[in-house]
Amino acid sequence: MSEPLATSHQGMEDLARIIIGEEELRQKVRELGAAISRDYAGKDLLLVGVLRGVIIFIADLLRAITIPVSVDLIGISSYGPSVKTHGVVRLTKDLEEPIEGRHVLFVEDVIDTGLTLSYLLRTLRARGPASLRVCVLLDKRAHRLIDIDIAYRGFELGDEYVVGYGLDHRQRYRNLPVIGILKPEKY
Ligand code: 5GP
Repeated sequence: MSEPLATSHQGMEDLARIIIGEEELRQKVRELGAAISRDYAGKDLLLVGVLRGVIIFIADLLRAITIPVSVDLIGISSYGPSVKTHGVVRLTKDLEEPIEGRHVLFVEDVIDTGLTLSYLLRTLRARGPASLRVCVLLDKRAHRLIDIDIAYRGFELGDEYVVGYGLDHRQRYRNLPVIGILKPEKY
């Protein structure tokens, strides 16, 4: 087991509090990978993630899956007022792979209102996958505006805006190996 690296990262001192530590993250990803490997045994599984926040989680999850699996990524632009109100986003990078007839597991770092995800799921569903389910690391259930069926859930979060393990604030802190809350003056 590798030793925690947290203290050696610049930016850790900007955190007011660590919410989820390295070992907890490792353990949860291992559990999710085992459950997914069991459930999708014998199926053509494709993980789909949205850039950029998901990159750390999906890379770790991929390695925790022990059955044959492919991975693909989409990019969206999250600018403009329509994102907040309707979840309508512009695809800046489409999938490389066709998903028709395949078992797609949509992997997200955090679901907040659910608007973005619900829009993306509609887009993918129209392409005729054999199945389409959701795996999310952090679920902010209290903020949900649209009901989304979540097949695999890592942790539930409250109201906090968190950084680390892929999640940013103004493009910083994605490299922190823990998930935490920034000190108020850093926002
Ligand atoms: P939703 O459409 O579900 O409200 O938006 C989810 C998106 O908002 C996530 O993919 C992420 O980009 C962003 N987001 C929501 N909560 C957080 C958070 O606590 N920290 C960070 N860094 N991004 C968040």
